[in-house]
Amino acid sequence: MGDVRLRLRYQVLNIVYVTSEAVPLAKTGGLADVCGTLPREVAALGHRCAVILPAFRSVYRAGLKIDTTDISFAIPMSPGKLVGGRLLRCLLPDSDVVVWLIDQPQYFDRESLYGDALGDYRDNAERFTFFCRAALAALARIEMDVDVLHCNDWQSGLIPALLQASPKAFGSLGKAATLMTIHNMAYQGQFHHDAFKWTGLDWKHFTHETFEYYGQLNFLKTGIVCADHVTTVSPRYAMEICTPQHGCGLDGVLASKGGRVTGITNGIDETVWNPATDVHLSANYDQNNWPSGKTANKRSLQLEFGLEESADVPMIGLVGRLAEQKGWDLILPLIRQHVEEGRPTQWMILGSGDKQIEAELTALAAQAPQQVAAHIGFHDALAHRIEAGADLFVMPSHYEPCGLNQLYSLRYGTIPIVTATGGLADTVVDTTAETLSNQTATGFHLREVSPRGLDESIGRALKLRYHEQKIWNNLVQRAMAADWSWRKSASQYVELYDNAVSLKG
Ligand code: ADP
Repeated sequence: MGDVRLRLRYQVLNIVYVTSEAVPLAKTGGLADVCGTLPREVAALGHRCAVILPAFRSVYRAGLKIDTTDISFAIPMSPGKLVGGRLLRCLLPDSDVVVWLIDQPQYFDRESLYGDALGDYRDNAERFTFFCRAALAALARIEMDVDVLHCNDWQSGLIPALLQASPKAFGSLGKAATLMTIHNMAYQGQFHHDAFKWTGLDWKHFTHETFEYYGQLNFLKTGIVCADHVTTVSPRYAMEICTPQHGCGLDGVLASKGGRVTGITNGIDETVWNPATDVHLSANYDQNNWPSGKTANKRSLQLEFGLEESADVPMIGLVGRLAEQKGWDLILPLIRQHVEEGRPTQWMILGSGDKQIEAELTALAAQAPQQVAAHIGFHDALAHRIEAGADLFVMPSHYEPCGLNQLYSLRYGTIPIVTATGGLADTVVDTTAETLSNQTATGFHLREVSPRGLDESIGRALKLRYHEQKIWNNLVQRAMAADWSWRKSASQYVELYDNAVSLKG
């Protein structure tokens, strides 16, 4: 066994990442950051990587050179409904990682990836079943050996089951090891069982060992059950999702994998998230000149958003989806309280999502324009500028598979205030007497998950900032110095790929 491992460690693997998001082509959240970066990092370790992605409208707007190929496909979606498509290709920026694009304008040439103001697109089950089937059909025709098919989230969850159901239909692809990565257990792609018809499979395959989940079709559950190996994006979340509290109903399904799921923490793409080189900032800075650099970035945000111009007032930054998960039920009452009490804090917020939260943020910004600024929408450059200009970054998520914004905050010297859950607990070291003395502290955990608990943590941070300048400076420098690059995580994935391939034989 030892010899096999040694041999495999030096074997060049061919890995295809199947995903619905990858920066800079399509993004709604952290999935895109991971799938746009991990393949490049694994390729840098000497492996051959490719990505396969739907050709969403955003793909054409990303400004990359897109080439046609001579590969097209026609998928019999239902009797009398043959849906055609063609394969396009481009490269991930600054790499030779090929992105194969499944072009099918009726399904994918839409303004958003998954839904509009009315909610999720009603044909999502059909669209992403088509994506999985077309991806396999296209990959079977590309002249490329595939050792590992790495599926990500529910949108690619049917791939392992489709391969299992028709192992001979896709040539040598049938021998590929399959990995399923869960980026967020709460989004499972669960649909009425009728949607199973889009798979084109006989109903005998619709069993609880594969596609069926309490009478419905569940994409993520299917992927978990049928993949050779399951991973998620932090060790703590890997443990949490095996419990009823965080398993979102699938903890029992994970138990069928021996109750084990590997957690590998995400990294950050230092080519775009580095305050020393970030093209979006008013001033670049590093561990040596961060006080002046951060002040310049804060000032430019204050000027642009009409906030009180003051270097001294602490700016609290928030960037993220306006979704229940992110703890807006803690944040909104606390901002309201700070506004009503005229507390000396400034809130710089960027997000989009839940309409009710959007309305409340807009109202707070209108009520206290010098204290609260809220930009509703998706704005990548502004996300970078907030990470640089804020003093604290608040992320009181109720659960967090990994979280990237706290990693960006650490890198930008913006001290994160987080709930001790999932990847937040794994990546931010709470400031205590012990972690200050052993020099490991990098942020603050909430002691109580409530608006009061959040306020208390912000208070602890500000006390250091104003009254313990030296300790605060050390904290910022340590946060900035922490290594969250992808290198380590990419090696861990390669080790898993190696093992999955060797077990597949
Ligand atoms: P999640 O994947 O749950 O949304 P993460 O923290 O893992 O949360 O990743 C979120 C990613 O999306 C980060 O890169 C963050 O900067 C980005 N992001 C979220 N909302 C916005 C927004 N409104 N504008 C710009 N970037 C955003």
